[in-house]
Amino acid sequence: MQDKLKQIGDTSNIIKIQSISGGDINNAYYVRTEAREYFIKTNKQVPATFFQAEAEGLEQIRKTKTIRVPDVYHYEIASSNEEICLMMEWIEPGKSKTSGQLLGEQLARLHLAEAGSQYGMHGTTFVGEITQENALYDNWLIYYREKRLRAQLEIGINRGTIPINRRKLLEQLLDKLDRFIPEHPGVSLLHGDLWGGNWLTGPQGKPYLIDPSVVYGDNAFEIAFTEVFGGFPDTFYESYQYYYPLPDYYEEIKPLYQLFYLLVHLNLFGEGYGPSVDRILSRYN
Ligand code: ADP
Repeated sequence: MQDKLKQIGDTSNIIKIQSISGGDINNAYYVRTEAREYFIKTNKQVPATFFQAEAEGLEQIRKTKTIRVPDVYHYEIASSNEEICLMMEWIEPGKSKTSGQLLGEQLARLHLAEAGSQYGMHGTTFVGEITQENALYDNWLIYYREKRLRAQLEIGINRGTIPINRRKLLEQLLDKLDRFIPEHPGVSLLHGDLWGGNWLTGPQGKPYLIDPSVVYGDNAFEIAFTEVFGGFPDTFYESYQYYYPLPDYYEEIKPLYQLFYLLVHLNLFGEGYGPSVDRILSRYN
C-alpha cells in the first residue's frame, strides 16, 4: 500500500488501514496517511480495464458539474492476473434529511445536461462483473435491444440461466420491443447502475454517486432501476420529477427497463431472480 501511495506522491506514513465492507466485488479500504485520507479498492479477478472504466465513468459524470463524485487519484490496468487498485477521495459519511431531495435534483440536472445525440457508449463498461460491450447508436431502441437485452440473453444461454421456455419468451419480446421502447428519447448521461448502494451521503449531507456504469440513454431507464431494490426516499422521486418530469408512458415500460438488471442478476446470481424475469416476460407476451 505504501508503494502505491508513493506512486501518487504521498510519501508520508500510513497511520491507519481499515477494511470496509459493503461492496459486492472488490476489497475496499479506508486508508489514512499523515497527509490525507483515501478510499482504495483492490481486485485481482476482474478484467484488465475494470477500474479504468470506473474512473472514466466518474470523470464523465464530474465533467457535467451537476452532481458530486469522488475524485480519482490513480487507477491501474492489469497486464496479467495481478492485483490492481483504484485510489480515490474518501467521502466521510454524513447525515441529512435533505440528501434524498438533493440527489433527485442533482440527478435530474445530470440527465438534463448536454449529452450529444447518440445512445450507448464508445468503450466497454461493466455491470457488476459482467462485461458490457458497447457502441454508439442513433437509435436507443436498437442499442437497448441488441447491446442490453439480447447480450444478456446470449450470456444466459451460455451460463445455463436461460432455459428454452424463457429463451422463447424473451426472443418473442425482443421481436416486438419497438411497440414499447422509444427510438429517440432525450439523450442523457446515465450513471447506469444506480441501486441504493451506489449513492452516498457525504459531509453536510451532500449526495455523491459512486460505481457508475455510464451510458447515454433514456433517463427512464435509470429511474426504473432505482425502483428495483429500493433505497431511495420519496423525496428523491418528488424532487427528480419536479426538475425532470418522467413521460406518461413511464409506468408502462418500467418493467421492460428493469428487465435488463434482473437478467444481469439472474446471470450473476442464479435462479433466485428467475421468477421476477418470468413475470415480466409473461406480462408483455
Ligand atoms: P464494490 O465496487 O465492491 O461494490 P463499493 O464501491 O460499493 O465496492 O464500496 C464498498 C463500500 O465502501 C460501500 O459500503 C460504500 O458505501 C463505501 N464507499 C465507496 N466509495 C467510497 C468513498 N469514496 N468514500 C467512502 N466510502 C466509500
